[in-house]
Amino acid sequence: MAYAYDDTNIFARILRGEIPNKTVLETEHTLAFHDIGPQAPVHVLVIPKGRYVNFDHFASEATAEELADFTRVAGEVCRITGVGPGNGGAGYRTISNAGTDGVQEVPHYHLHILGGRVLGRMLAKMG
Ligand code: 5GP
Repeated sequence: MAYAYDDTNIFARILRGEIPNKTVLETEHTLAFHDIGPQAPVHVLVIPKGRYVNFDHFASEATAEELADFTRVAGEVCRITGVGPGNGGAGYRTISNAGTDGVQEVPHYHLHILGGRVLGRMLAKMG
């Protein structure tokens, strides 16, 4: 089934400039900004400017240029925020929630970059 993109979602509104954001980095295809409800001292969201619902939608339909730009911006955010181990940081976690099991709230693809504290186990154990 093809993905249907909802142009009223909050990140679409941010991209249209209808809602302000605290930008970390912006390129032709990608925007990175601070999460409004940070769950760690560093909590940045990286989003493509294209109309993609989630990771697998982006991965299968984005252009090579969009894919490369997104990845470069995410890496640059790790460096800028000081969490990237390659630049002396203590590390970070990237998370991308999708769909109902993934508990995705905003239906525009986004990558969370979290760091600045020990983040604990990746997931609670099953059962
Ligand atoms: P999800 O649960 O979809 O993976 O994550 C959505 C994230 O978007 C949440 O961490 C939430 O705090 C963040 N968020 C929701 N609305 C806004 C907003 O208007 N501005 C910013 N900067 N972040 C938002």
